[in-house]
Amino acid sequence: MLDFTLSKEQEAFRDYVHQIALEEMRPVSLECDRTETIPEAFFWQMQKRLRGGADGQARQWIAEGKAAPGQEQLLSMLGYEELAWGDAALATALPGPGLAYPPLMAFGTVEQQQRFLSLYEDDGLHWGALALTEPGCGSDVSAIATTARREGNAWVLNGQKQFITNGARADLIITFATVNKAAGRGGLLPFVVPGGTPGLKVGRIEKKMGLRASQTAELLYEECRIPEDHLLGALLHAGRAGFKAAMRTLDATRPMVGALAVGLARAAHEEVTQWLKEELPASYSLQKRRELLEQAEELGYEIQMARLLVWRAAWMADRELANSKEASMCKAYAGELVMKVTTFAARVVASGEMTEARLFLEKWFRDAKIFDIFEGTAQIQRLVIARRLFPEVTIP
Ligand SMILES: Cc1cc2nc3c(=O)[nH]c(=O)nc-3n(C[C@H](O)[C@H](O)[C@H](O)COP(=O)(O)OP(=O)(O)OC[C@H]3O[C@@H](n4cnc5c(N)ncnc54)[C@H](O)[C@@H]3O)c2cc1C
Repeated sequence: MLDFTLSKEQEAFRDYVHQIALEEMRPVSLECDRTETIPEAFFWQMQKRLRGGADGQARQWIAEGKAAPGQEQLLSMLGYEELAWGDAALATALPGPGLAYPPLMAFGTVEQQQRFLSLYEDDGLHWGALALTEPGCGSDVSAIATTARREGNAWVLNGQKQFITNGARADLIITFATVNKAAGRGGLLPFVVPGGTPGLKVGRIEKKMGLRASQTAELLYEECRIPEDHLLGALLHAGRAGFKAAMRTLDATRPMVGALAVGLARAAHEEVTQWLKEELPASYSLQKRRELLEQAEELGYEIQMARLLVWRAAWMADRELANSKEASMCKAYAGELVMKVTTFAARVVASGEMTEARLFLEKWFRDAKIFDIFEGTAQIQRLVIARRLFPEVTIP
């Protein structure tokens, strides 16, 4: 059976998050971008509303990183699309376990999941982060140089991570480090490093072109000592299990990034469509008008295609089907599409006075680029896809 309809509960959840995006995110969006800061009151308000919805079992999804059994991923995608429609930078900055959640759920023992995630259940503001990237390693995770060594009943981490979303405010940072550099991928393991651990220092906070309100931090690990039970899961003696953990984490986070990209693309598309309907200058020739309307229409159905790719990857994850190829496909497609849509919108609406709508379009144009970069660039997604489509061919 093939069914593209959302259940009443899924629709209610999507509409509920949309309302929050409209009422809480859009009004502060431009100011947060301008100042590169987010007022604490915004986080409290978002936490309160996202936890307090009337949509039954789904209501705590985003605040706690949980959802209804069997539809967690799909439901998450509906929410992420709406949040990025509101503001993509703020969507990545919301309290909750965030990017720490997928590796914890995929590789933590049940005891570790309960212990670490219980932190996010109290009334405070808590964040999580995922630290893979280093100055010398982004796309190629096997080049991770941060080291972990065993000392008695502790692990000691040394190294440097960069571009870590929410890194400076995270209560837990899932940090990938190597216990044997010579073993490449085989030496990698994921560790749970609590924020504020002695030896963990926050370095530079990046100044960025887009997603300016989202915090992107450098983290320095200098003899950073964590208890031995902070090694995620029982992965120590499992060969390349740590590398697989990193890859499985990306399989979960790529559809999420795809959904955010769809939300941002939709925001820009709605704005430009409205402009074309209401403000298309009478002086434009018939041919120019037709070209613009055709391009807008084409982008509209491409957004629907991107959404379906995202939903498919999430649907597979909900059924515990291997979805690396599908996760990369939706990320690659949506990441490039959002740049196409925001470029078109910014170009078309470029004439006329500087209205609020134009300020949003200018911001969305800047915000779009990151969707082509984080959680793996478009080139890397194509490598992942090609390796799975042509397993018999060696692709370096
Ligand atoms: C705002 C922001 C937030 C981020 N958040 C996080 C986070 O929370 N946690 C985290 O761990 N990281 C995070 N990152 C890092 C991000 O995931 C990396 O920037 C990304 O993976 C690319 O790595 P790199 O910058 O080292 O580029 P590189 O890997 O050095 O790549 C440079 C260029 O070479 C290309 N390239 C590389 N290898 C190949 C190849 N084999 N074939 C073809 N082309 C190739 C790439 O596509 C790219 O165009 C964030 C980055 C930004 C900008």
